[in-house]
Amino acid sequence: MFLDCGKTGRFRHLIISAIRRESAKRTCKIGSLNKQEKTFRYDVAILGGGPAGTATALSLRQHAPSLSLALIEQSTYDSIRIGETLPPIVQPLLEQLGVWNAFLNEEHVPAYGSCAAWGSDKLLDNEFIYHPVGRGWHLDRTRFDAMLAREATNRSIASYPGSKFITSQPTGQKRWRLAIQDENRDEISIQADFVVDATGRRSVFARQQGVRKVFLDQLFGVFVFFTLNGGSPLTDSYTMVEAWEEGWWYSALVPDKKIAVVCMSDIDIVKRIGLTSSTKWIELMNETRYIKDRVRDAEPVAAPSVHAAHSQHLERVAGDAWLAVGDAATTFDPLSSLGIFKGLRSGIMASYAIADYFKGSSSSLEKYEAILAKEFEEYLSTRTDYYGRERRWKSSPFWQRRYDQVTLDPRQMLRLSEMPGKAAAVERLSMHLPVPDLKYLCDICVVPRQAQEIVSKFKARRKSVQDRRVILALQYLVAEGMIQAAAE
Ligand SMILES: Cc1cc2nc3c(=O)[nH]c(=O)nc-3n(C[C@H](O)[C@H](O)[C@H](O)COP(=O)(O)OP(=O)(O)OC[C@H]3O[C@@H](n4cnc5c(N)ncnc54)[C@H](O)[C@@H]3O)c2cc1C
Repeated sequence: MFLDCGKTGRFRHLIISAIRRESAKRTCKIGSLNKQEKTFRYDVAILGGGPAGTATALSLRQHAPSLSLALIEQSTYDSIRIGETLPPIVQPLLEQLGVWNAFLNEEHVPAYGSCAAWGSDKLLDNEFIYHPVGRGWHLDRTRFDAMLAREATNRSIASYPGSKFITSQPTGQKRWRLAIQDENRDEISIQADFVVDATGRRSVFARQQGVRKVFLDQLFGVFVFFTLNGGSPLTDSYTMVEAWEEGWWYSALVPDKKIAVVCMSDIDIVKRIGLTSSTKWIELMNETRYIKDRVRDAEPVAAPSVHAAHSQHLERVAGDAWLAVGDAATTFDPLSSLGIFKGLRSGIMASYAIADYFKGSSSSLEKYEAILAKEFEEYLSTRTDYYGRERRWKSSPFWQRRYDQVTLDPRQMLRLSEMPGKAAAVERLSMHLPVPDLKYLCDICVVPRQAQEIVSKFKARRKSVQDRRVILALQYLVAEGMIQAAAE
């Protein structure tokens, strides 16, 4: 384990006993408790106790205090968690959730900015000083997430740590029966009128409802944590980013004199260059211009660990009596350092939508979906802009994939493939747009048309999707052979 086991272990013991006491109180008060069958009933069950799930719970407690809430988390916050840089803009959200003082008490490492060798060899500073709050943080993520869960418990939210959501079943009248496995592998049955999927990028509940994911890339992060020795050269707490031919590196100081060093690249490249081997990872890290200096006198704590980091979104982020928050709904590139912020914010927005839903609003979930769709489109254009600033390795596959180059001639005539079975195979595609949208593009191409006309027709029905994304999806369908060139 990377983190200080002693500290985390003691902390874990305190949290769990507090959580259990509160859970028992809460469920007994709610009633319908059958100890033999271990069946509990709540208005809202939140699956996943990361930043998004806990923010949903905390905000719901404020906005809809009469609703009974359950927070179900598979872990007991005792192993390493990924994602450590918090930008200054997160402070108002933590204040709004009423956890600002608890956060400050955790003594995470203040961060005053970032520096990047991006677009040139020069390392340039980007100081948070220009932000009104002026300071971000490098987190011990496990401690941060555990603090949010503890605050939820303190507000009488029934918490189930060490309890894994397994399956769900609708039971009529929009009520769910959830099968949960607790720490002792005993089954708990939870009935809820509404379910929040906050299970992170695996979107466990939504996937069980048959909702598919749309992928925008294949980015992965290969992590190594280092322990800094006394005379370490790292004197600042800036996050450092350094681009290279096959991706980019970053390093950040985290609490307990540790530093995270991460190499980001696409999974096919990670495999091709053997980045998961310690020897290769260290060899490549030593070829960096700046990152290597940060860990010159530091020791790696363990072998490289690989974590999915691709941008993705669910085809639908809400349905009948459920919605998804945080990474379960959409994921952002770690380059943005906005994953936790987005998770907290979506939890707060979800709480408004759920409160309105319980008041009888028929449109609150649709509005929530529209807000998240807009946020994701904005994120995509910022992402294209950032990657577009690095032009040193134009022929490298990693960078080419991120330039989102439009190669299709707008006047090119296109039509649906005549190859048997090709058009039907669109079901297994998962890039750029949801399958129904990819199918719609194929439908438009039943009649041969110019590429520009296809895009206009598509946009007439799906106004909110940016032109570039539609064109990239069309190029993708051409590359996959679903759509082909037609004679003039
Ligand atoms: C390489 C990398 C670097 C990153 N760096 C940063 C960064 O510097 N700053 C930043 O803001 N973001 C960063 N992120 C993104 C950030 O980590 C996520 O956006 C954030 O954790 C999302 O919070 P969440 O609550 O939606 O999901 P998660 O944090 O993934 O939480 C999901 C929770 O659900 C629980 N769970 C899962 N399945 C079940 C189940 N079946 N039953 C019960 N519980 C379940 C999990 O145990 C977990 O606690 C990074 C991500 C990666 C991959």
